[in-house]
Amino acid sequence: MRFSSYIGVIALALGLTACVDDTQSSAAPSADAVALQAHLEFLASDDLEGRDTGSRGHEIAAKYIATEFKSLGLEPAGDDGTYFQRIKFRRSFLEENSASFTLDTGDGKVELEYPKQFLTGPSPYSEQDDVEAPLVFVGYGLVSDAFGIDDYAGLDVEGKIVVMVTGRPESLPSEEGAHLNSSKTKFAAERGAVGIINLHTPAREEVRPFEVSIMYQRAPSVRWLHPNGEPNVAFKNIAASAYVHHEAAQQLFVNAPVKLDAIFAQLEAGESPQGFDLGVTARLQRESRHEEITSPNVAAVLPGSDENLKDEYVLYTAHSDHIGVTKDLSQDDHINNGAMDNASGVSVMLETARMFTEAGQQPKRSIMFLSVTAEERGLLGADYFAHHPTVPLGQIVANVNLDMPVLLYDFADVIAFGSTHSTLGDSVSRAAGQFGIELSDDPMPEQAIFTRSDHYPFVKKGVPAVFLMTGFTSKTEGEDGGEVWGTFFAEHYHRPSDQPDLPINYEAGVTFTNINYAIGQEISNQVERPRWLEESFFSQLD
Ligand SMILES: [Zn+2]
Repeated sequence: MRFSSYIGVIALALGLTACVDDTQSSAAPSADAVALQAHLEFLASDDLEGRDTGSRGHEIAAKYIATEFKSLGLEPAGDDGTYFQRIKFRRSFLEENSASFTLDTGDGKVELEYPKQFLTGPSPYSEQDDVEAPLVFVGYGLVSDAFGIDDYAGLDVEGKIVVMVTGRPESLPSEEGAHLNSSKTKFAAERGAVGIINLHTPAREEVRPFEVSIMYQRAPSVRWLHPNGEPNVAFKNIAASAYVHHEAAQQLFVNAPVKLDAIFAQLEAGESPQGFDLGVTARLQRESRHEEITSPNVAAVLPGSDENLKDEYVLYTAHSDHIGVTKDLSQDDHINNGAMDNASGVSVMLETARMFTEAGQQPKRSIMFLSVTAEERGLLGADYFAHHPTVPLGQIVANVNLDMPVLLYDFADVIAFGSTHSTLGDSVSRAAGQFGIELSDDPMPEQAIFTRSDHYPFVKKGVPAVFLMTGFTSKTEGEDGGEVWGTFFAEHYHRPSDQPDLPINYEAGVTFTNINYAIGQEISNQVERPRWLEESFFSQLD
């Protein structure tokens, strides 16, 4: 799982809308707590050294998953008759001391200080970038017909560097807002911009201080390579980028018709600021270094039984990678085991696969099980598969994603991301209802979770998807599910302590697995394939 920010306090916003149904089939197989535990303890063991993309530890995890698939009798669905889809990646590093940001206000030149006043990442495409262009402020930098937003209206950004505030208006609904927020680069590139400057804001400072961004700055950027060796860079014309501290950013607005303090006041008041020419130019320079690594997805198929439907697939995904070994030497334990993130999701997928193979009846549609790599580097293994699928993408009728189920409490509800946008919602509520589990609304829309896991590259390609997270209520009296979840997130998420010695509730894991199995079972056997609801924003993606 990838989160952009740290949440200290989690507000509970529970809207219980479950549709309880008692059509549970008596012959349904059940997940096994010991099997879940065995998978998790192996995948999250120190020997696998945090399963970083391209590492030996992750290779061993991938081999373990392929071995399990084989022993279950599943067919290989990777490359060349194997379970593996091996992907080439380019890792890019920013050369030390190469980043510079020079502002020309007309009255003189100002150098911004790296990394105290601005940050930049490496270029995945070129080794040397040197861009000089006028700056144009574009508010949030969003465009949406559906919501009547065009922050670029009346502005010419062709050949210019756009300056935007980070985030999105709070008035946008969770999943749509998350999608639009992640499309900002696309909006700028399509209008001919040559660079993007994001502004840190005082509000952002309270959630995620600029200092924290400086710490994460050292991580390399990773992109997958097409089979011809070209990096998957969608918007090559964007050759400069920077993230500027809100105080240093005042200097960008010295000639502006509206000063930055007034812009921040507008944001504070819930208004979306209008764009304008900033009347200054900037020169952004950097040098980048590239290296190549490889890492595998692992894919297997249980063939469907129905003559007409077996060419259609229900796709389960779970990422097998994690973030590897920490460089923080102040701690004794350096291995980020990723027990919840995402050894737990892979374990759930392996148990789901066993249940399908051992159920008395074969599903009508085929079921594909896919463990993806490089989720932590930007959903890359899933994105590669969505671009280079091993079965025709149009025959994948739905994606059920498993990522970071927090199996630390006896959850009474689940949050089903994506479920309100397609006919999958009905399957999810029936499946959860069989086990007495309610469906709740997203309690943390600001986290934009819908865009932060492996279903999202499939959603962008038009595949209906659902992604379940354990909810914030508990069946155990006196236990506050939201608090357990929040404590996990604050103290263990992406840290060495996310390891098998957490008080893992494997019985909760059984329930979680049974629900996800029941969802796939429903989808694979229903007559009509799932579809986006007509009124859904995601039915109209280009
Ligand atoms: Zn993660």
